[in-house]
Formats: sequence, C-alpha cells, structure tokens
Amino acid sequence: RRLVASSPVASQDLDDLLRGGIETGSITEIFGEFRTGKTQLCHTLCVTTQLPLEQARPGWAEHFPDTSQTLPGHFPAKLWGGAEGKAMYIDTEGTFRPERLCEIAEKYGLDGAHSPRRRADVLDNVAYARAYNSEHQLQLLAEAAGMMSDTRFGLIIIDSATGLYRTDYSGRGELSARQMHLAKFLRALSNLAAQFGVACVITNQAGAPPGARRRAPHGPVVAQVDGGASFGDNKKPIGGNIIAHASTTRLYFRKGRGENRVCKVYDSPCLPEGEATFAIHGAGIGD
Ligand code: ADP
Ligand code: MG
Repeated sequence: RRLVASSPVASQDLDDLLRGGIETGSITEIFGEFRTGKTQLCHTLCVTTQLPLEQARPGWAEHFPDTSQTLPGHFPAKLWGGAEGKAMYIDTEGTFRPERLCEIAEKYGLDGAHSPRRRADVLDNVAYARAYNSEHQLQLLAEAAGMMSDTRFGLIIIDSATGLYRTDYSGRGELSARQMHLAKFLRALSNLAAQFGVACVITNQAGAPPGARRRAPHGPVVAQVDGGASFGDNKKPIGGNIIAHASTTRLYFRKGRGENRVCKVYDSPCLPEGEATFAIHGAGIGD
C-alpha cells in the first residue's frame, strides 16, 4: 500500500526515486544540513498536494500495479498526482514564505496571483501556523485535528519538528524530559496521520548520518546548545532513535555538485536505497 499525497515535484530524478510522492498515513522525515532544500521541498509539496487527483503521471502503474485499496479517510490510491487536498504548515523557524507558494503555483497552473486586495487560491488552501515553543507545537496538532475533521487535508508539514526542542530544553539535565516530550509530539502526529490519512512531512536539521560519505566541512560551525554530548552536535539527526522510530520513511538531503542537491532514501519500507539529484528554482524543486 502506498498512497500518494504529493507529487510530481517536477524533478524527474526525485519523482522516480520517491515513486510517486510522499506516503499518506505515515510520517516522512527529511533530515540534512541547513540550506539543503528541506524548506523548499515543503513549499513545493504545499502546492502539489492541491493538484487534482486525475493528474496522473504516465508510468506510475508500473510501480504500483495494485493500488485499488482505499482505507477510510484516505485518498483513493488509484490515482496518481495531487491529493486534491489542503496543506497545513506548522512553522517553527519563521521560514515560511507565502510569496514562494505563489511563484511555485504558477508553474503548476494553479492560481498564485496575489494582490493586496485578493488572496491567491493557492494560499487559501494552506493553513499556516507559527509555533513558538514545543508545548505550543504540540497544541497545534490538536487544532489541526479539529480542522481535519471537517476539511480534507492532503498534507501536514512540521518545519522543523526539532528546532524548538533544541532551544526549549538546552540544559544537559533536560535530555530525558526533551525526549519524552518529543516522543509525545510524534505519537500525536502519527495518530493524526493514521486518523485522517494525511501525509506528514517533518524536517530535522542534522549532519550526515552514520556511514555516509564524508565531505569537507563548509561554513561556520553552528553553536552547540548542549555541547554536542547527546544530539545537538549536528552530526546525528536530533532526537535520534525517537524520530527514527516514529518516521516510516526517512530521506537525507545534502548538497551535491554546484547548486545541486541530493536526496537519499535512508530508510523506507518500500523504496530502494537510491539517490536522486535535484535543483532549487524560483518555481520550487525541479531538475
Ligand atoms: P533548509 O530548509 O534545508 O535549511 P532551504 O529549503 O531553506 O534549506 O533551502 C535554501 C536554499 O534554497 C538556498 O540555497 C537558497 O539559495 C535556495 N532558494 C531559496 N529560494 C530560492 C529561489 N526563489 N530560487 C532559487 N533558489 C532559492
Ligand atoms: Mg528550513
């Protein structure tokens, strides 16, 4: 079973790697260093999830011959393309930019025309909330559930899921409290995914996973809030095992040659461990 909420994102390579998009009903984690395109992909998904269900892409059936199964609350899996649903965006870092959505929307033929008098259609389909601390981030999920029970959402994004935990629980002695709260948040998210059949994308700023090819460091070293002892060391995904266990699909983003970015399937129950190269454009993720 693979129900698709969002795609294609116009990067042939990435679309092929993900075989149709982001799975609904489970959590997909995107982890990687800063400026690797996590937020940009989230913006693009907010647009593609709105595309009509009929927006089928040739070739999808090869990958998923048996997609007739439909679960209550899930989108019909027979159709490939958009999820014809709204997107919810929980922003913890203040990096959401509605004007980027408008720009991306134009490329997909959706109405992105925005003026002081008129809100673009594409923005009407995105519910946005800024989370100010980890407790607030958790509360927003309860509000999200309320909204999802009367409107069809295709996607929920938490960008980033871990950022506020870094700052809210910065002391060494607070590690277990932080892990417990994060686990609670992820449980609530996973329940939301299952209950409403939405795709959940969480981002997580982190360095290379164990076993990844080492690269020369670039840029300044980011200040480490907990001395790097546990997981604020920017070497492992923050939250370690807790996030790893909660996420069904894990994608690792890194910089590639030139301006390119690389997505690696780090863990998935149904995708091979491949890599795809993509670029970031004004119109979102592309070739
Ligand atoms: P992350 O969330 O992984 O830290 P982002 O998704 O914010 O990273 O990606 C930042 C990158 O996206 C930067 O390299 C930036 O130059 C590029 N970018 C942002 N907006 C645009 C745009 N309109 N056109 C092209 N590239 C862009
Ligand atoms: Mg970001």
